[in-house]
Formats: sequence, structure tokens, C-alpha cells
Amino acid sequence: MELWQQMVRNSVHTVDELVEKFGIDRKVAEDLDEFFQARINPYYLSLIRYPGDPIWRQCVPDKAELEDFDAAEDPLMEDAMSPVPNITHRYPDRALFLVTSQCGLYCRFCTRKRKVGDYEKISMKGLESAFKYLEEHTEIRDVILSGGDPLMLTDAMLEKILQRIRAIPHIEIIRIGSRMPCVLPQRITPKLVNMLKKYHPIYCNTHFNHPWEITPESSKACQMMADAGIPMGNQMVIMKGVNDNPAVVKELMQKLLKIRVRPYYMYMADETKGANHFRTSIETGLNIIENLRGHTSGLAIPHFVIDAPGGGGKIPLLPNYVLHHDEERIILRNFQHKIYTYKNYADANNPDGYGSKNKTNGKNGKNGSNGNGNGNGKGKKEDMKPKKIKLPELSEIEN
Ligand code: SF4
Repeated sequence: MELWQQMVRNSVHTVDELVEKFGIDRKVAEDLDEFFQARINPYYLSLIRYPGDPIWRQCVPDKAELEDFDAAEDPLMEDAMSPVPNITHRYPDRALFLVTSQCGLYCRFCTRKRKVGDYEKISMKGLESAFKYLEEHTEIRDVILSGGDPLMLTDAMLEKILQRIRAIPHIEIIRIGSRMPCVLPQRITPKLVNMLKKYHPIYCNTHFNHPWEITPESSKACQMMADAGIPMGNQMVIMKGVNDNPAVVKELMQKLLKIRVRPYYMYMADETKGANHFRTSIETGLNIIENLRGHTSGLAIPHFVIDAPGGGGKIPLLPNYVLHHDEERIILRNFQHKIYTYKNYADANNPDGYGSKNKTNGKNGKNGSNGNGNGNGKGKKEDMKPKKIKLPELSEIEN
């Protein structure tokens, strides 16, 4: 057994341990165990500095989880968008492939807690129909291995899956979604990275939420992945009492770049059953981005998104930098709240914009092109025109 497997085995997970180590009332601990079992491996446990700290909140069961049973179990409608077991196909050219129910840590905020830890719900039996689906759907270019945590599989099992996917000609990119570099970095071994690099292009999105998770061990794990040619991205969730603070997020993003992990997404917490005590206001998220943009390198700034309830996918949000926009100009404010005007320009895609023959000085050529031959070619102009979108009234949406 490898060290990381031994560490998983030595995790805090029983009701007795929850009572003894964290002083949780026994009845509450039993109810929590029933709702979503605990798994706190010795490495992640060692990062806790005091009760209720940002590490504790992510891994120690909390009775608040038992107080919001009205929220949805599957807010992102992953199951409704699952054509065959183990696959969610939401976006046109990519698919999510669940390959295990197991994780190195069971995060209390997990959106997939309805399945995580349950061998029946993410079963190896579903792998064959999932491979068949990927083979038949030639529009899928990009497969995201998830679970659970794909790096909970043994190297041999993971390699079998990678081999099968690599044998499908239309699949260009394989992504691995794994919290292991953060929560159990001992999993990233030379043997693992040497195996992974045979199946490039492989990308990995990991999940750090707080600067205290960046330790010598997790830094080494991320750098080993990067050295194997695996670009590393980070997905962070904004959570009350964990990272709902611009200074904490800035420190995290800057430290991630130092260990060669590119901040990718910052999510509003999902409306998940048993995790609503982590939720913050949207303004908290906007304020965090406001305090990053212009204040640190653009490389350190993730896309701020809401994963839309009901399966709408990721929708980006930005603080309002646009003060005014019409056919002639856009008026913007920068990170210091200074105001700037940028003149609009008619191009081949927007022939009715400022500067077109119809609108102003008539110097431009046909169809509003600037006459330099950079138009968008032949017969395609209609398709490329931006569509005018009429926004519905709020009352129409709410009805
Ligand atoms: S590692 Fe990911 S899938 Fe596993 S419990 Fe944590 S958030 Fe959920």
C-alpha cells in the first residue's frame, strides 16, 4: 500500500472520533454521519490551527448542515443532463466523466455530496457505457475526469481509463479535476506523473480555497505536475469564514502563481443542501474581484462565475466598469475609479456602428468595412452579425 493510501485509511471518519476530537454532540454526530460521512486525512487535519478556522470549516462536520434540508441535492442538474451513467453532457464539445465516488477528503461544502462516498452511485459498472457514449459522440473534444476524485484511483486503474480515452480519435484534451494536490499532496508521486505524461495533452484543475493550504507538501505536488507538462488551474469557492475576504483571496492567488497554478475560476457557492451556511452575498464576490483587478497581475485573477442553478452552466460576473455605451463610444472607469472614453469603431461585423457609411462620414467602403481588405469574407457576413438582444422586463422573467 502506498503512503497516500495508508493516510486515507487513517482518516478521521467514525462518530466516536467526531465526538472525541471535535466535541460534537453524539446525536448530532450520528445525524451528520448519516447525512454525509466525514473523511479527514491526517495531512489535512494537521493544517487546522484552531477550532473553527478556515481549514476546520472545510472538513469538520457542522450541525448547520442539518438545518437547510430544503435546498436542492443536485442544484446544477447534473443527473438530469446525464445521458448514460457516469457522464454529464451539458456543453456542446465537452463532457464530464465521473470515474470514482471516493475522495481524499470529504469537503463539507461539496456540491456532489449526494453521490460522493457512495460506491453504488458512481459505479465502475457504468464505465463501459460511458466509454461507448464518448466514442459515439464525435462532437466531444474535451473530457473532464471527475468524481469523487480521479486521483483516488490507483495508477493502474487510472491508466486504463486514460488509454481508453486516448484511443478515441476526436477527443483532443483530457482534464483531471482533483483536490489531491491540495488536500493529500502525498498522492502526487513520481510514478503517477510519469504515467500521466504519456497521455498528453492533460490539464489538471485543482481546488485550493485558502492560503494555509499552500504548504511545502502541496507546493511540491503542484510543481511535480507542472514539471510533467500538466498545466495546473485552480477553482476556488467563496465561503463564509473561509475566504470571504479580498486580502485572503489575493494572498491565495499570488501564492498559487508562485507554485505554478493559474487561478481559473472563483465560484459563488452553489445552493446545495447542507451547505448553505457557507454562502455569501454576490456583493462579497464582486468586491473580491474589484480588489484584485488592477491591484495585482492579471494572471492572478480568476473568472468570477455563478454555476447557474438548474443546469445553466457557468455565467461570468464582473464589477460594473462600463458607465455608458452607445454607437459612438464607451465610457469606462478603471480600478482607481478614474473615467476614460474609448471611441467606437465600425467593423465588418458591425456595419451599422459608428463610422459606417450610413451613420457618419461615408468614407468607409461597402458594408461599413474600412476598405483595407480585412472584412470577414464572402457570404458569411450575415452569420457574423451580432444579434440584438431584447432584455425582458423583470416581471416577465419572474412570471
Ligand atoms: S474533493 Fe471535490 S468531490 Fe470530493 S468531497 Fe471535496 S469538493 Fe466534493
